[in-house]
Amino acid sequence: MHSKDRRTIGRAHACKFCEARKPGTAEVYEFRDGLDVYWFNTAQAKQIVADGRSASKVPEEIVQAILRVNHVDQDHLKHVNPESPGILAKRYDRWILLDGLHRAARRLHAKEDFYAYRLSYEESLGCIVKQEISTTSPEAIVRRLRKVLENAEPTAEPLDIEVECESAVLEEVRRLLTQEEKKLFNLRQVGRRHKK
Ligand SMILES: [Zn+2]
Repeated sequence: MHSKDRRTIGRAHACKFCEARKPGTAEVYEFRDGLDVYWFNTAQAKQIVADGRSASKVPEEIVQAILRVNHVDQDHLKHVNPESPGILAKRYDRWILLDGLHRAARRLHAKEDFYAYRLSYEESLGCIVKQEISTTSPEAIVRRLRKVLENAEPTAEPLDIEVECESAVLEEVRRLLTQEEKKLFNLRQVGRRHKK
């Protein structure tokens, strides 16, 4: 540990948010969408956006929507640098702020625009370390998968999607998809394997 870090480290001990962001800590962002849960590797997302891309302005209504559903810690607000852009990932049809919640809050309070680096749909998928899709009806799963296709690049490799369901349900999903659609997915069943 370098002595110049002492001040920051001392402060970090008092704040669980700063603590979780210390170098070497696995940064995972959990996103809940109804009953579905996704976990994103934010360290990986940071690495991807360090490729020289520029940050773009996040529309205020998106910032407000994000702040409505996320808890902002009043103490941690003072620890962040509001000049640094956040990171937005795409999942289905919505933008998810993986990094920069407190910076976004500071910018909004100061009536300043918030900027963020955007991950493409495929890059966003690449940052998902784990997901639990709880939908159990085959029709609902198919609707969800078609929504994924709307957002995906047409030239992309088949998308790896893990579906949390019973094997009979996944068979039904495959039956409901068209031949063309089936080629676009690598569907894998996760969990609940013990049930018939
Ligand atoms: Zn903090």
